[in-house]
Amino acid sequence: MDTNEYDLVILGGGPAGLTAGLYAARAKLSCVLLERGAVGGQIVVTDWIDNYPGFPEGLNGYDLVGKMAAQAARFGLVTRTETVTGMDLSGPRKILQLADGRKIRCRALIIATGARPNSIDVPGEKELTGRGVSYCGTCDGPFFRDMDVAVVGGGNTAVQEAMYLTRFVRKVTLIHRRDQLRATRIYQEQAFANPKIEYIWDTVVTAVTGENEVQSLRLRNLRTNQEDTLAVAGVFVLIGTIPNNGMLPLDQLDSRDGFLVTDQEMCTNIAGVMAAGDIRHKKVRQVINACGEGAVAEQAAERYLEEMG
Ligand code: NAP
Repeated sequence: MDTNEYDLVILGGGPAGLTAGLYAARAKLSCVLLERGAVGGQIVVTDWIDNYPGFPEGLNGYDLVGKMAAQAARFGLVTRTETVTGMDLSGPRKILQLADGRKIRCRALIIATGARPNSIDVPGEKELTGRGVSYCGTCDGPFFRDMDVAVVGGGNTAVQEAMYLTRFVRKVTLIHRRDQLRATRIYQEQAFANPKIEYIWDTVVTAVTGENEVQSLRLRNLRTNQEDTLAVAGVFVLIGTIPNNGMLPLDQLDSRDGFLVTDQEMCTNIAGVMAAGDIRHKKVRQVINACGEGAVAEQAAERYLEEMG
């Protein structure tokens, strides 16, 4: 077997992929983890994580993922920096196409390519991410106790997270680009009944401002073009999640809204192909369940390889 042939390839080096890699390395499978950049995934840029068990003081996302990578490496997980641009999953040998023309073949594949939050793409957003700009209320809400925050978006995620945030913050201002929420009626009713949530309609954020941390948002009303400023300590951008699926053959794999559909064992519709983490079609996108799914996917891959002999 040359270095481009493996029993198992894990695609993606976030928490799901690294956990699958840890299990595969401990099981001494012929396995490689492919990652186009540095391992870590989305949590690398997460300033502080307080809801991952085992770390009572909390820790930085970069440190958490560093520990995951070190743990997998201790058991010999091989990680390669490769950009996969396409794949053919139709035969028993899965073929991964690399950007430079080479191919990697494997018998089982775990897809853990993750997702990324949609961004509003305005000045200050990137610079203040982790310093008041957040893409996850569940993760970061408790850091804004008794403060005023904004939520951008009008879908189920924005409305549910706005309600969740009211447990901690003084006030949530929900900013939506239209005059009607997209969220399901029941969530709308609950949110409208919540005295801690205020609404700014027909409005977009044009800039996030602040020295080192978020202090205010610049707003523009799309109907009147009137500009305004809203003082907040945090802004939660909750306008949808984009799956990292550019390299996946969605004509072969079952998917919904671009996310992969699996069964409880993380198996896709193609034998020998599993998916784990944020690339899966699911409701909860947290580090803890990404790790759990990575472990389950690896076990399914091991069983598949055993059955195939
Ligand atoms: P979503 O339903 O696509 O809603 C995205 C929201 O962001 C929309 O209100 C949209 O405005 C707004 N938006 C999009 N791009 C924007 C931009 N550039 N600037 C400003 N606003 C922008 O996304 P989601 O809320 O993350 O939900 C994703 C899927 O998961 C949906 O199918 C949802 O139903 C489902 N979900 C279900 C539950 C549940 O059932 N409990 C919970 C969460 C999510 P417009 O309305 O004007 O398009």
